[in-house]
This record gives sequence, structure tokens and C-alpha cells, in this order.
Amino acid sequence: MSIRAVRGFKDVLPDEIELWHRVESIARSVFKSFALEEMRIPLLEKTEIFTRSIGEFTDIVEKEMYTFTDRSGDSLTLRPEATAGLVRAVSEHKLLARSSILKLFTIGPMFRHERPQKGRLRQFHQINVEVMGTKTPPSDVEVIWMAWEILERLGLRGLSLEINSLGCPACRAIYRNDLKKYLDGIFQDLCRDCQRRSKLNPLRVFDCKNEACRKIMANAPLNREYLCTECVNHLEKVLSFLKTLKIPFVINPYLVRGLDYYVMTTFEMVSSDLGAQSTVAAGGRYDGLLKALGGPDLPGVGMAIGIDRLLLLLEKYKEGPSIDLFIAALGTKAREEVLPWMKHWRRQGLTVQMSYEDRGLKAQMKQAGRAGASYVLILGEEELHKKQVVLRNMINHDQHEITFDDVISAVDSLVG
Ligand SMILES: [Zn+2]
Ligand SMILES: [Zn+2]
Repeated sequence: MSIRAVRGFKDVLPDEIELWHRVESIARSVFKSFALEEMRIPLLEKTEIFTRSIGEFTDIVEKEMYTFTDRSGDSLTLRPEATAGLVRAVSEHKLLARSSILKLFTIGPMFRHERPQKGRLRQFHQINVEVMGTKTPPSDVEVIWMAWEILERLGLRGLSLEINSLGCPACRAIYRNDLKKYLDGIFQDLCRDCQRRSKLNPLRVFDCKNEACRKIMANAPLNREYLCTECVNHLEKVLSFLKTLKIPFVINPYLVRGLDYYVMTTFEMVSSDLGAQSTVAAGGRYDGLLKALGGPDLPGVGMAIGIDRLLLLLEKYKEGPSIDLFIAALGTKAREEVLPWMKHWRRQGLTVQMSYEDRGLKAQMKQAGRAGASYVLILGEEELHKKQVVLRNMINHDQHEITFDDVISAVDSLVG
């Protein structure tokens, strides 16, 4: 039997790569306009980076990490998310000593041993943003804004923003205590997982997918009733900025985060196109994480966009592959004649293709059609003799004769 890829790991094939490039290049251009810098960090980290930052009593750490002992006896883990590693790197290289605010992004794969399903893989891909060193509402807004901008520029439909405040450590502690009391009262009715969560990480009971637990939690106290003045003001400023930016939002009081270090602003972007698995971006504030990892006591806010799910949505709007110019040159002499022109156009950034085989005009026109060429440049024996080419517009089927002297500038102005 032939060997297949590991379950939950996926190859990206040539006819899929166009969409990946589109997502990545739009993200990069949005980040440039927000003055973000790129960072690349290892896929592998010491396991404790994740147990300390994500929290030991989360599903990620308990059940989903790819953890192994290497040949030196160290416990290592394939990163299940990007924030912890980025914060580790920022702290290790003392990047915050050079500038008081860091605005970073990274794009790459993450690994979680979950049950694979459509849009959820064991090696999945994320675009991550972290803004560190500031605690102000405008920094929250910018992070939300860039996620929204990327999704909108990609042409995603049915998009909405859900937002909530988790409170600061002070008001969150009071809330947590009351929530714990509530959970103690209904302990017997909770599922087994939630009984355990109620003792270790009570907020996570809100994440339970179990119908019975969901019903019980509908009556649970909500943290918005516990927010202190500072937290209320912070949230109101964020919402007011979003209104000015015309980014529509809904306040979702049940939006809580499985990761322990999230505080105050938290958000998700949801697309109605994908049914139950509709979250395409998520993020929030994580003050205290740098300190937890042995770094400076500085606040941060970030977000992640899941590329794999996004691609499932974008596939619906996918256009076929396309090239700018196909060159149908007949015979060796004609082929040689066009080489300097091709060199020029390719340097200009045009996608130019020529048949590798010496075929007739009819076969080459067919090939140009299959390649999705916008224009075809025809150079046969007769044209070669007259020192001109025929340039054919494949969309409206117009064609012109153009002399060798004018061909470069003519293609530049038509196609470029
Ligand atoms: Zn507070
Ligand atoms: Zn439950």
C-alpha cells in the first residue's frame, strides 16, 4: 500500500495556491498600512511555554498538544497557537527595551491533535497579530480594524463582529467567585467535564457544547454586570470608535475565552456562510501574559485569522487560473525573436507563458484558452517576414497587427 499523508495534515496543491497567495498578500498589504512588522518564530518550543501561558486546565494543553520528548530528554511541543511563542521571543530578545510599543504579525502553521473535520485540521494555518506595550482602547480598535479590513478586502460576505469585555483581574475575581458559587449550586446537573472545569477554570463552562450545560448556563451570572468603572469606560470607548469606523458589532455576553490570559476586550468575527463553524477571526487583550512568561509586566492585544476556514469560504468565489499573455510563436526563429520581449514583460511583473513544444497555431490557441490568457501574441512565418506580430484580445476577440518596434510598449500599455 502506498503511504498517505498523516490524518489531519493536508497538502496544498497547485490549483489551490492562488487563493493562499491572495489571502497572504492582502494581509501583508493591510499590515503595511497599519505599520506592523513581521516576525518568524520556530514551530517547536519547550512545552512549559504553553502550559504556563495557555493554562494547564485547558483542552489545548490537556488533550490537544503534539508533545514529545526529544533525544536529549527535553519535553518539546509543536506550537498549538502563536501568541505564547511570540511573547517568548519578544522577551528573550528584549525587543520592548528598544521601542515601547511593538506591532507584530506572523503567518504560519499551528498544530493541535483534534478530531479532523471540514475546515478543521491538525496542522492548521493562522495569521497572527500582537500589539504589545499599550493598554488603550485605540490599540484594541486597531487590531479589530485590521482583521475586519482583511476579511472585507477578501470579499467575504455575511460578516459580523461579536464583542465582549472579560473585565480586569480586579472585577473578574469578584465575578469568578460568584460564578463559582452559582456552579456549586447546580453541580450535579453539569456534565463530567464541566464539573471538573467548575473547580479549576469556571469561565470555561460557558464553552461547553453539551445541550444540558448550555441551558443551565443561560441563567448563570454574566461578567458584564460585574465590570468596574474602568472596564466599562474602556469598552464604551472601543464601541464608540467602532461606530465611527462603521464596523458593525453585536455585544455577546457569552463570549468568553478558553485561554487564561485574556482580559477586557475580546472579540470574534463570524461569517454566516460556513454554518456551525463560522468563526474566521478571534482575538482580544492579554495583559499579564508577558509577565507570566518571565518577561516584563506589559499589556498586549492580538488576534488570529484562521486561514483554512477562510479558504473554504473563498473557494466559492474562486476564479480559474489566469495569465496575462500567451505567446504563440511558430518555429525556432520566431521563438528566439520573442525571448527579449518576454524577458522585459516578466520583469515588469506580467505572467507570460509560451508553449514548450513546437505545435501548430490551432493547438497553441487551445492551450492559451485553457491557461486563461487575457491576450495572445501570435508570431508565425508570415509575421516574422513582415516584422510584425498579431496581438489578440481573448475576451472581446479584437486583434491588431503591431510592428516589432512597437510591440513592447503596446503590450505594456494594454496588459500592464
Ligand atoms: Zn475591571
Ligand atoms: Zn458541560
